[in-house]
Amino acid sequence: MASLVIESDWIVPVESPAIRGGFLAVESGKIIYVGQQLPGRFRAFPKIHLSGGAILPGLINAHCHLELSDIDRPLEVPSGIDSSGPMVGWLGKLMARRRAISQSGAELAESKCNATLRGIEQAWETGTRLVVDNITAPWSGDWCERTARGFFAGARSDALKALVPEVPIHIKPCIELVDVTELRGEQTWAFAQQADASISQADAVCRRPVGLAPHAPYTASKRVVAKAVASACEPHGLVSMHLAESLEELEWTDCRQGAFREWISPWIDSQHALHIVTFDELLRILAGAHRALIAHGNYLNLRQIDWLEQYRERMAVVYCPRTHQHFRHSKHPSEKLADRKVSVFLGTDSRASNPDLSIFEEWKTACKAFPELGPRYWMAACTTGPSIFLGTEHLAGTMRMGSKSLLTWVPLGESSISCEAELWHSMLSSCGVRPLEVQVSLIETKFA
Ligand SMILES: [Zn+2]
Repeated sequence: MASLVIESDWIVPVESPAIRGGFLAVESGKIIYVGQQLPGRFRAFPKIHLSGGAILPGLINAHCHLELSDIDRPLEVPSGIDSSGPMVGWLGKLMARRRAISQSGAELAESKCNATLRGIEQAWETGTRLVVDNITAPWSGDWCERTARGFFAGARSDALKALVPEVPIHIKPCIELVDVTELRGEQTWAFAQQADASISQADAVCRRPVGLAPHAPYTASKRVVAKAVASACEPHGLVSMHLAESLEELEWTDCRQGAFREWISPWIDSQHALHIVTFDELLRILAGAHRALIAHGNYLNLRQIDWLEQYRERMAVVYCPRTHQHFRHSKHPSEKLADRKVSVFLGTDSRASNPDLSIFEEWKTACKAFPELGPRYWMAACTTGPSIFLGTEHLAGTMRMGSKSLLTWVPLGESSISCEAELWHSMLSSCGVRPLEVQVSLIETKFA
Protein backbone atom coordinates (compact mmCIF):
# COMPACT_ATOMS: atom_id res chain seq x y z
CA MET A 1 0.00 0.00 0.00
CA ALA A 2 1.48 3.38 -0.98
CA SER A 3 2.06 5.66 1.99
CA LEU A 4 3.64 9.06 2.60
CA VAL A 5 4.33 11.57 5.36
CA ILE A 6 4.27 15.25 4.42
CA GLU A 7 5.90 17.69 6.81
CA SER A 8 4.74 21.24 6.26
CA ASP A 9 5.44 24.69 7.75
CA TRP A 10 1.72 25.07 8.35
CA ILE A 11 -1.27 22.73 8.30
CA VAL A 12 -4.68 24.42 8.58
CA PRO A 13 -7.53 21.98 9.32
CA VAL A 14 -9.89 25.02 9.68
CA GLU A 15 -12.16 23.25 12.19
CA SER A 16 -9.26 23.19 14.68
CA PRO A 17 -6.32 25.56 15.26
CA ALA A 18 -3.59 25.81 12.63
CA ILE A 19 -0.57 23.56 13.25
CA ARG A 20 2.86 25.08 12.87
CA GLY A 21 5.45 22.61 11.64
CA GLY A 22 2.99 19.70 11.48
CA PHE A 23 2.77 16.28 9.88
CA LEU A 24 0.24 14.75 7.54
CA ALA A 25 0.29 10.99 6.87
CA VAL A 26 -1.57 9.59 3.86
CA GLU A 27 -2.10 6.11 2.52
CA SER A 28 -3.67 5.19 -0.83
CA GLY A 29 -5.47 8.51 -1.14
CA LYS A 30 -6.71 8.75 2.47
CA ILE A 31 -5.64 10.84 5.43
CA ILE A 32 -4.48 8.61 8.27
CA TYR A 33 -2.91 11.21 10.57
CA VAL A 34 -2.70 14.99 11.05
CA GLY A 35 -0.82 16.50 13.99
CA GLN A 36 2.06 18.37 15.53
CA GLN A 37 4.19 15.30 16.37
CA LEU A 38 4.80 12.31 14.14
CA PRO A 39 3.84 9.09 15.97
CA GLY A 40 6.37 6.25 15.86
CA ARG A 41 4.23 4.05 13.64
CA PHE A 42 4.63 6.50 10.75
CA ARG A 43 8.38 7.04 11.08
CA ALA A 44 9.27 4.38 8.48
CA PHE A 45 7.00 5.99 5.87
CA PRO A 46 8.65 7.86 2.96
CA LYS A 47 8.76 11.55 3.88
CA ILE A 48 8.64 14.79 1.96
CA HIS A 49 9.13 18.29 3.39
CA LEU A 50 7.12 21.18 1.98
CA SER A 51 8.22 24.66 2.97
CA GLY A 52 6.94 28.13 2.14
CA GLY A 53 3.25 27.41 2.29
CA ALA A 54 0.26 25.92 4.06
CA ILE A 55 -1.86 22.80 3.55
CA LEU A 56 -5.62 23.36 3.71
CA PRO A 57 -8.65 21.10 3.15
CA GLY A 58 -9.94 20.76 -0.40
CA LEU A 59 -12.10 23.73 -1.42
CA ILE A 60 -15.83 23.49 -2.12
CA ASN A 61 -17.65 25.62 -4.67
CA ALA A 62 -21.29 25.61 -3.53
CA HIS A 63 -22.75 27.21 -6.66
CA CYS A 64 -21.49 27.02 -10.21
CA HIS A 65 -22.53 26.51 -13.85
CA LEU A 66 -19.59 24.61 -15.32
CA GLU A 67 -21.27 24.52 -18.75
CA LEU A 68 -20.52 28.24 -19.21
CA SER A 69 -16.78 27.87 -18.60
CA ASP A 70 -15.86 28.63 -22.21
CA ILE A 71 -16.79 32.30 -21.72
CA ASP A 72 -13.52 34.22 -21.61
CA ARG A 73 -14.77 37.42 -20.05
CA PRO A 74 -17.84 38.06 -17.86
CA LEU A 75 -20.79 39.35 -19.88
CA GLU A 76 -21.27 43.04 -19.29
CA VAL A 77 -24.07 44.13 -16.98
CA PRO A 78 -26.01 47.01 -18.59
CA SER A 79 -26.44 50.15 -16.57
CA GLY A 80 -28.12 53.52 -17.08
CA ILE A 81 -31.65 54.67 -17.61
CA ASP A 82 -32.10 53.13 -21.07
CA SER A 83 -31.28 49.62 -19.96
CA SER A 84 -33.95 47.01 -19.39
CA GLY A 85 -32.53 46.34 -15.93
CA PRO A 86 -29.15 44.90 -14.99
CA MET A 87 -30.23 41.26 -14.48
CA VAL A 88 -32.64 41.17 -17.42
CA GLY A 89 -30.08 42.84 -19.71
CA TRP A 90 -27.42 40.32 -18.68
CA LEU A 91 -29.83 37.36 -19.11
CA GLY A 92 -30.63 38.66 -22.61
CA LYS A 93 -26.92 38.54 -23.48
CA LEU A 94 -26.60 35.03 -22.11
CA MET A 95 -29.55 33.81 -24.16
CA ALA A 96 -28.26 35.56 -27.29
CA ARG A 97 -24.98 33.72 -26.85
CA ARG A 98 -26.77 30.38 -26.68
CA ARG A 99 -28.79 31.22 -29.80
CA ALA A 100 -25.58 32.17 -31.63
CA ILE A 101 -24.04 28.77 -30.81
CA SER A 102 -27.13 27.00 -32.17
CA GLN A 103 -27.25 29.15 -35.32
CA SER A 104 -23.54 28.69 -36.03
CA GLY A 105 -24.25 25.03 -36.72
CA ALA A 106 -21.99 23.94 -33.88
CA GLU A 107 -23.20 20.88 -32.08
CA LEU A 108 -24.63 22.16 -28.78
CA ALA A 109 -23.76 18.98 -26.89
CA GLU A 110 -20.17 19.09 -28.06
CA SER A 111 -19.84 22.77 -27.20
CA LYS A 112 -21.31 22.22 -23.71
CA CYS A 113 -19.17 19.15 -23.14
CA ASN A 114 -16.01 21.12 -23.97
CA ALA A 115 -17.07 24.01 -21.75
CA THR A 116 -17.82 21.66 -18.84
CA LEU A 117 -14.44 19.98 -19.21
CA ARG A 118 -12.70 23.35 -19.18
CA GLY A 119 -14.62 24.29 -16.06
CA ILE A 120 -13.67 21.11 -14.22
CA GLU A 121 -10.05 21.71 -15.09
CA GLN A 122 -10.15 25.36 -13.97
CA ALA A 123 -11.77 24.36 -10.69
CA TRP A 124 -9.28 21.57 -9.97
CA GLU A 125 -6.26 23.73 -10.88
CA THR A 126 -7.24 26.19 -8.14
CA GLY A 127 -7.72 23.57 -5.44
CA THR A 128 -11.47 22.94 -5.73
CA ARG A 129 -12.47 19.35 -4.92
CA LEU A 130 -16.25 19.51 -4.93
CA VAL A 131 -18.47 21.61 -7.18
CA VAL A 132 -22.23 21.99 -6.74
CA ASP A 133 -23.03 22.40 -10.42
CA ASN A 134 -26.30 23.49 -12.06
CA ILE A 135 -26.75 21.44 -15.22
CA THR A 136 -29.06 21.87 -18.22
CA ALA A 137 -29.80 19.70 -21.27
CA PRO A 138 -27.84 18.35 -23.03
CA TRP A 139 -25.54 16.94 -20.32
CA SER A 140 -23.90 13.62 -19.53
CA GLY A 141 -22.18 12.28 -16.43
CA ASP A 142 -19.64 10.62 -18.74
CA TRP A 143 -18.22 14.03 -19.68
CA CYS A 144 -17.18 14.64 -16.08
CA GLU A 145 -15.86 11.10 -15.56
CA ARG A 146 -13.55 11.29 -18.57
CA THR A 147 -11.97 14.60 -17.62
CA ALA A 148 -11.63 14.38 -13.88
CA ARG A 149 -10.07 10.93 -13.88
CA GLY A 150 -7.48 12.20 -16.35
CA PHE A 151 -5.68 14.51 -13.87
CA PHE A 152 -2.51 12.77 -12.73
CA ALA A 153 -3.76 9.49 -14.15
CA GLY A 154 -0.54 8.74 -16.05
CA ALA A 155 2.72 7.53 -14.55
CA ARG A 156 2.53 8.40 -10.87
CA SER A 157 5.40 8.35 -8.41
CA ASP A 158 4.97 6.38 -5.19
CA ALA A 159 4.39 9.66 -3.36
CA LEU A 160 1.55 10.59 -5.71
CA LYS A 161 0.06 7.10 -5.49
CA ALA A 162 -0.09 7.56 -1.73
CA LEU A 163 -1.53 11.06 -1.89
CA VAL A 164 -3.98 11.19 -4.80
CA PRO A 165 -7.27 9.26 -4.66
CA GLU A 166 -8.56 7.75 -7.87
CA VAL A 167 -11.00 10.66 -8.32
CA PRO A 168 -9.33 14.07 -7.74
CA ILE A 169 -12.47 16.26 -8.00
CA HIS A 170 -16.16 15.59 -7.46
CA ILE A 171 -19.25 17.16 -8.97
CA LYS A 172 -22.64 17.33 -7.30
CA PRO A 173 -24.91 17.85 -10.32
CA CYS A 174 -28.07 19.86 -9.64
CA ILE A 175 -30.53 19.45 -12.48
CA GLU A 176 -31.97 22.80 -13.49
CA LEU A 177 -35.78 22.74 -13.63
CA VAL A 178 -37.81 25.23 -15.66
CA ASP A 179 -41.58 25.04 -16.25
CA VAL A 180 -42.59 28.28 -17.97
CA THR A 181 -45.02 26.25 -20.12
CA GLU A 182 -46.60 22.83 -19.68
CA LEU A 183 -44.37 21.38 -22.41
CA ARG A 184 -41.26 22.88 -20.83
CA GLY A 185 -42.30 21.37 -17.51
CA GLU A 186 -42.58 17.89 -19.08
CA GLN A 187 -39.21 18.31 -20.79
CA THR A 188 -37.55 19.39 -17.57
CA TRP A 189 -38.53 16.19 -15.72
CA ALA A 190 -37.61 14.01 -18.70
CA PHE A 191 -34.17 15.63 -18.67
CA ALA A 192 -33.86 15.04 -14.91
CA GLN A 193 -34.38 11.30 -15.44
CA GLN A 194 -32.01 11.13 -18.37
CA ALA A 195 -29.25 13.06 -16.58
CA ASP A 196 -29.52 10.87 -13.49
CA ALA A 197 -29.33 7.72 -15.64
CA SER A 198 -26.16 9.00 -17.36
CA ILE A 199 -24.21 8.76 -14.08
CA SER A 200 -22.86 5.29 -14.38
CA GLN A 201 -21.05 4.57 -11.14
CA ALA A 202 -21.95 4.91 -7.50
CA ASP A 203 -18.59 6.19 -6.20
CA ALA A 204 -17.76 8.37 -9.15
CA VAL A 205 -16.84 11.93 -10.09
CA CYS A 206 -20.55 12.83 -10.15
CA ARG A 207 -22.14 12.20 -6.78
CA ARG A 208 -25.52 10.65 -6.30
CA PRO A 209 -28.22 11.40 -5.43
CA VAL A 210 -28.23 14.27 -7.90
CA GLY A 211 -29.58 17.56 -6.61
CA LEU A 212 -32.53 19.40 -8.11
CA ALA A 213 -32.34 23.07 -9.03
CA PRO A 214 -35.62 24.87 -9.72
CA HIS A 215 -34.02 27.67 -11.71
CA ALA A 216 -35.36 30.93 -10.25
CA PRO A 217 -38.65 32.47 -9.07
CA TYR A 218 -39.40 33.75 -12.59
CA THR A 219 -38.79 30.43 -14.40
CA ALA A 220 -39.81 27.86 -11.78
CA SER A 221 -43.38 27.84 -10.51
CA LYS A 222 -44.27 26.73 -7.01
CA ARG A 223 -45.49 23.46 -8.56
CA VAL A 224 -42.05 22.51 -9.84
CA VAL A 225 -40.37 23.70 -6.63
CA ALA A 226 -42.75 21.61 -4.50
CA LYS A 227 -42.18 18.54 -6.69
CA ALA A 228 -38.40 18.98 -6.41
CA VAL A 229 -38.63 19.33 -2.63
CA ALA A 230 -40.85 16.24 -2.37
CA SER A 231 -38.19 14.17 -4.09
CA ALA A 232 -35.37 15.70 -2.03
CA CYS A 233 -36.74 15.22 1.47
CA GLU A 234 -34.89 11.92 2.05
CA PRO A 235 -31.37 11.94 3.60
CA HIS A 236 -28.80 13.41 1.18
CA GLY A 237 -31.56 15.08 -0.87
CA LEU A 238 -30.52 18.54 -2.11
CA VAL A 239 -32.41 21.39 -3.69
CA SER A 240 -30.55 24.46 -4.92
CA MET A 241 -32.40 27.54 -6.19
CA HIS A 242 -31.46 31.03 -7.33
CA LEU A 243 -33.46 33.15 -4.94
CA ALA A 244 -33.57 36.83 -3.94
CA GLU A 245 -30.81 37.47 -6.45
CA SER A 246 -31.99 40.76 -7.98
CA LEU A 247 -34.36 43.65 -7.34
CA GLU A 248 -36.00 43.00 -10.73
CA GLU A 249 -36.90 39.48 -9.59
CA LEU A 250 -38.42 40.91 -6.41
CA GLU A 251 -40.54 43.40 -8.39
CA TRP A 252 -41.83 40.63 -10.61
CA THR A 253 -42.69 38.07 -7.91
CA ASP A 254 -44.26 40.63 -5.56
CA CYS A 255 -46.03 43.00 -7.97
CA ARG A 256 -45.75 41.51 -11.51
CA GLN A 257 -43.99 44.73 -12.46
CA GLY A 258 -40.56 45.82 -13.61
CA ALA A 259 -38.08 44.66 -16.24
CA PHE A 260 -38.99 40.99 -15.97
CA ARG A 261 -42.57 41.66 -16.99
CA GLU A 262 -41.68 42.60 -20.56
CA TRP A 263 -38.85 40.11 -20.85
CA ILE A 264 -40.85 37.13 -19.69
CA SER A 265 -44.19 37.74 -21.42
CA PRO A 266 -43.33 36.21 -24.86
CA TRP A 267 -42.56 32.78 -23.46
CA ILE A 268 -44.53 32.36 -20.28
CA ASP A 269 -48.01 30.79 -20.36
CA SER A 270 -50.88 31.98 -18.22
CA GLN A 271 -51.08 28.77 -16.20
CA HIS A 272 -47.44 29.06 -15.21
CA ALA A 273 -47.85 32.74 -14.35
CA LEU A 274 -50.60 31.80 -11.87
CA HIS A 275 -48.11 29.72 -9.92
CA ILE A 276 -45.31 32.27 -9.65
CA VAL A 277 -45.04 33.03 -5.95
CA THR A 278 -43.20 35.31 -3.55
CA PHE A 279 -39.83 34.70 -1.89
CA ASP A 280 -41.65 34.03 1.40
CA GLU A 281 -43.68 31.22 -0.09
CA LEU A 282 -40.70 29.72 -1.90
CA LEU A 283 -38.67 29.74 1.32
CA ARG A 284 -41.49 27.91 3.10
CA ILE A 285 -41.57 25.24 0.38
CA LEU A 286 -37.78 24.87 0.27
CA ALA A 287 -37.71 24.28 4.03
CA GLY A 288 -39.20 20.83 3.34
CA ALA A 289 -36.05 19.60 1.59
CA HIS A 290 -33.44 17.59 3.45
CA ARG A 291 -30.97 20.30 2.43
CA ALA A 292 -31.71 23.52 0.53
CA LEU A 293 -29.16 25.95 -0.88
CA ILE A 294 -30.34 29.48 -1.61
CA ALA A 295 -28.07 30.70 -4.39
CA HIS A 296 -27.22 34.41 -3.81
CA GLY A 297 -29.91 35.54 -1.35
CA ASN A 298 -28.73 39.10 -2.04
CA TYR A 299 -32.08 40.69 -1.24
CA LEU A 300 -33.32 38.54 1.64
CA ASN A 301 -34.87 40.92 4.15
CA LEU A 302 -34.44 40.90 7.92
CA ARG A 303 -37.75 39.15 8.54
CA GLN A 304 -36.81 36.36 6.12
CA ILE A 305 -33.38 36.02 7.73
CA ASP A 306 -35.01 35.79 11.18
CA TRP A 307 -37.32 33.09 9.80
CA LEU A 308 -34.39 31.17 8.29
CA GLU A 309 -32.80 30.84 11.73
CA GLN A 310 -35.16 28.02 12.71
CA TYR A 311 -34.18 26.05 9.59
CA ARG A 312 -30.46 26.72 9.76
CA GLU A 313 -29.61 23.01 9.97
CA ARG A 314 -31.18 22.40 6.56
CA MET A 315 -31.07 25.73 4.70
CA ALA A 316 -28.01 27.76 3.79
CA VAL A 317 -27.19 30.73 1.58
CA VAL A 318 -24.48 30.68 -1.10
CA TYR A 319 -22.78 34.04 -1.51
CA CYS A 320 -20.89 34.53 -4.79
CA PRO A 321 -18.69 37.55 -3.95
CA ARG A 322 -17.20 38.43 -7.33
CA THR A 323 -20.46 37.83 -9.17
CA HIS A 324 -22.13 40.04 -6.55
CA GLN A 325 -19.62 42.78 -7.37
CA HIS A 326 -20.08 42.26 -11.10
CA PHE A 327 -23.81 43.05 -10.80
CA ARG A 328 -23.16 45.96 -8.38
CA HIS A 329 -25.79 44.60 -5.98
CA SER A 330 -26.53 46.19 -2.61
CA LYS A 331 -24.48 44.92 0.32
CA HIS A 332 -24.90 41.17 0.80
CA PRO A 333 -26.69 40.22 4.07
CA SER A 334 -23.82 37.92 5.15
CA GLU A 335 -23.38 39.60 8.54
CA LYS A 336 -27.07 39.42 9.36
CA LEU A 337 -27.15 35.75 8.33
CA ALA A 338 -24.05 35.05 10.44
CA ASP A 339 -25.69 36.86 13.35
CA ARG A 340 -28.62 34.42 13.12
CA LYS A 341 -26.18 31.49 12.71
CA VAL A 342 -27.55 30.78 9.24
CA SER A 343 -24.71 29.24 7.21
CA VAL A 344 -23.23 31.23 4.36
CA PHE A 345 -21.13 29.28 1.86
CA LEU A 346 -19.09 30.52 -1.09
CA GLY A 347 -19.70 29.96 -4.79
CA THR A 348 -18.31 31.34 -8.01
CA ASP A 349 -21.50 31.25 -10.11
CA SER A 350 -20.45 31.01 -13.77
CA ARG A 351 -17.83 32.47 -16.08
CA ALA A 352 -20.66 34.61 -17.47
CA SER A 353 -20.32 36.77 -14.35
CA ASN A 354 -16.89 35.82 -12.98
CA PRO A 355 -13.39 36.02 -14.49
CA ASP A 356 -12.39 32.53 -13.29
CA LEU A 357 -13.57 29.62 -11.15
CA SER A 358 -11.15 30.05 -8.24
CA ILE A 359 -13.03 29.67 -4.97
CA PHE A 360 -9.84 30.85 -3.19
CA GLU A 361 -10.26 34.22 -4.93
CA GLU A 362 -13.89 34.26 -3.72
CA TRP A 363 -12.54 33.70 -0.21
CA LYS A 364 -10.21 36.68 -0.54
CA THR A 365 -13.01 38.88 -1.89
CA ALA A 366 -15.37 37.86 0.92
CA CYS A 367 -12.65 38.57 3.51
CA LYS A 368 -12.23 42.09 2.08
CA ALA A 369 -15.97 42.74 1.86
CA PHE A 370 -16.71 41.48 5.39
CA PRO A 371 -13.46 41.69 7.40
CA GLU A 372 -15.34 41.61 10.71
CA LEU A 373 -16.38 38.00 10.07
CA GLY A 374 -12.71 37.10 9.72
CA PRO A 375 -10.68 34.88 7.36
CA ARG A 376 -11.31 31.68 9.31
CA TYR A 377 -15.09 32.18 9.05
CA TRP A 378 -14.79 32.62 5.30
CA MET A 379 -12.43 29.67 4.89
CA ALA A 380 -14.96 27.48 6.72
CA ALA A 381 -17.55 28.81 4.23
CA CYS A 382 -15.71 27.04 1.40
CA THR A 383 -14.41 23.96 3.25
CA THR A 384 -15.80 22.47 6.46
CA GLY A 385 -19.13 24.36 6.42
CA PRO A 386 -20.50 23.07 3.10
CA SER A 387 -18.82 19.71 3.65
CA ILE A 388 -20.75 19.07 6.88
CA PHE A 389 -23.96 20.57 5.44
CA LEU A 390 -23.79 18.30 2.37
CA GLY A 391 -22.55 15.27 4.32
CA THR A 392 -19.32 14.99 2.33
CA GLU A 393 -16.81 15.14 5.21
CA HIS A 394 -15.23 11.86 4.08
CA LEU A 395 -14.79 13.20 0.56
CA ALA A 396 -13.79 16.84 0.47
CA GLY A 397 -13.65 19.95 2.62
CA THR A 398 -12.16 18.49 5.81
CA MET A 399 -8.83 17.17 7.05
CA ARG A 400 -10.32 14.44 9.20
CA MET A 401 -8.62 11.08 9.58
CA GLY A 402 -10.19 8.61 7.17
CA SER A 403 -11.16 11.34 4.69
CA LYS A 404 -9.83 11.36 1.16
CA SER A 405 -6.60 13.30 0.83
CA LEU A 406 -8.01 15.92 -1.55
CA LEU A 407 -6.07 18.86 -0.16
CA THR A 408 -4.93 22.35 -1.11
CA TRP A 409 -1.52 24.02 -1.16
CA VAL A 410 -1.34 27.76 -0.54
CA PRO A 411 2.13 29.20 -1.28
CA LEU A 412 3.25 31.83 1.23
CA GLY A 413 6.78 32.63 0.09
CA GLU A 414 9.76 32.89 2.38
CA SER A 415 8.33 35.30 4.93
CA SER A 416 8.50 34.12 8.54
CA ILE A 417 5.09 33.64 10.10
CA SER A 418 4.92 33.25 13.83
CA CYS A 419 1.21 32.92 14.65
CA GLU A 420 -2.14 31.99 13.11
CA ALA A 421 -3.23 35.63 12.72
CA GLU A 422 -0.12 36.34 10.62
CA LEU A 423 -0.76 33.15 8.66
CA TRP A 424 -4.27 34.24 7.61
CA HIS A 425 -2.96 37.68 6.73
CA SER A 426 -0.26 36.14 4.57
CA MET A 427 -2.76 33.84 2.82
CA LEU A 428 -4.81 36.87 1.83
CA SER A 429 -1.96 38.12 -0.34
CA SER A 430 -1.10 34.68 -1.71
CA CYS A 431 -1.70 33.70 -5.29
CA GLY A 432 -1.04 30.48 -7.10
CA VAL A 433 -3.20 28.23 -4.90
CA ARG A 434 -3.10 24.66 -6.26
CA PRO A 435 -3.94 21.04 -5.46
CA LEU A 436 -1.47 19.59 -2.95
CA GLU A 437 -0.47 16.84 -5.41
CA VAL A 438 0.69 19.49 -7.89
CA GLN A 439 3.01 20.96 -5.26
CA VAL A 440 4.34 17.50 -4.34
CA SER A 441 4.92 16.76 -8.01
CA LEU A 442 6.80 20.07 -8.46
CA ILE A 443 9.07 19.27 -5.49
CA GLU A 444 9.70 15.75 -6.81
CA THR A 445 10.64 17.12 -10.23
CA LYS A 446 12.96 19.69 -8.66
CA PHE A 447 14.89 17.07 -6.69
CA ALA A 448 14.74 14.27 -9.27
ZN1 LIG B 1 -26.21 30.65 -10.78
